Amino acid sequence: MSSLLLAGGRVIDPAQQFDAVADVLLVDGKVSAVRQNITAPADAERIDVSGLVVCPGLIDLHVHLREPGQSAKETIAAGTRAAARGGFTSVVCMPNTSPAIDNSAAVALIHEKAEREACVNVFVAGAITKAIAGEELAPIGSLKQAGVVAITDDGHCVQNNELMRRALEYANMFDLPVLDHCQDYALVSDGVMHEGYWSTLLGLRGWPSAGEEMIVARNILLAEITGARVHCQHLSSVRSVELIRAARQRGISISGEACPHHFTLTDAVIAGSDRFWRSDGRDIFGVKDRGDSLPTWPNFDTNFKMNPPVRSARDREAILDGLADGTLDIICSDHAPHCDYEKEVEFDYAPFGITGLETELPLSLMQLYHAGRLPLADVIAKFTVGPERLLRLEKGTLKTGADADVTVIDPDVDWEFRRQESASKSKNTPFEGWPMKGRAVLTIVAGKVVWREQTALVTV
Ligand SMILES: [Zn+2]
Repeated sequence: MSSLLLAGGRVIDPAQQFDAVADVLLVDGKVSAVRQNITAPADAERIDVSGLVVCPGLIDLHVHLREPGQSAKETIAAGTRAAARGGFTSVVCMPNTSPAIDNSAAVALIHEKAEREACVNVFVAGAITKAIAGEELAPIGSLKQAGVVAITDDGHCVQNNELMRRALEYANMFDLPVLDHCQDYALVSDGVMHEGYWSTLLGLRGWPSAGEEMIVARNILLAEITGARVHCQHLSSVRSVELIRAARQRGISISGEACPHHFTLTDAVIAGSDRFWRSDGRDIFGVKDRGDSLPTWPNFDTNFKMNPPVRSARDREAILDGLADGTLDIICSDHAPHCDYEKEVEFDYAPFGITGLETELPLSLMQLYHAGRLPLADVIAKFTVGPERLLRLEKGTLKTGADADVTVIDPDVDWEFRRQESASKSKNTPFEGWPMKGRAVLTIVAGKVVWREQTALVTV
């Protein structure tokens, strides 16, 4: 028997609306008990977590692990180490690999590789269409049989509405949610940043908000006629949030997710750090007191290029409002690693995407909890019950008998993010040198410690 006792922490389990100081006993990979003054078995390891928050292992349902085919950018081994450092015990990997995960053999390959090399649970999303080409449906039934937890063409977007309707009908038959990267190709064309003041000033081609909203609206209509569970990925604009809010009020099975970069940054970042800190950056929690020690970056820094792009301060506020009022009930990273040589080109030519697993929780704590928009339990819910409700992974709670996936958080620690310390194979983060408040200090998967911030914890 292997036992681990987490002693004296503040246990927050949103699934059970539990929030109290208690011990957590993990035995043989399962949660054995959560209550005060547990007497652990004699051979149990005991970790003092007083003053810290103990919660169900966090879930990130939008991660690019880049295998197969793009292991120069990321691997299952390195990507899951980054997940563990960020406090995540489960991730869902996206199928836009090379080749795409559009058949059962590809799903089996990921499962086998993850079994050997991953330090956190890896769930697989399959493709909606063959080769993510948007032309012909992937074998959705056999993907389900192979164990995918959702389907998505992420990175791409099915443009043919009739094909998307059939995808939703099949997915519904197999009880699979459909995750959609919302992008109208004709409207977006070759836009590289948010279409607005800064794109005009900088002379970069704009990616208009309507390019996202058009597909969000399409998805709402199709969710209504098919009854399928449709989930809009990485939402970035005011009207996307408004559309989802109104549709959910009408009882339509639609949901949305938000990424920390969309609710922290704005398009002013592409004009360089000076412009950002003097304008939209002033309102970010904790940066006011930093004076001259704020991080700097040049204009046209490609580590701020992602898809969809970061938008205006109004859009950022709308995403935060959507998270605060429950319109958006899931936070994810869209961890999208790229090699340095790929990003070190002109802004127009750089690939879209940034890493995010290790900055996701602190930025969420800063912008939501520390900024006073949400209580801590509600922030944790966006990483636990939120994704669990959509994907039904049988994760995201500390109920007795549940898998012993646990994250211990120090919500108040001040620290600075350094890309050199990242476990990801790629370092394309916009948050180099950023002041952070709060982080995971201990990540436990199936009762085993997979990440531990050495300074914060004492074994007794
Ligand atoms: Zn995407």
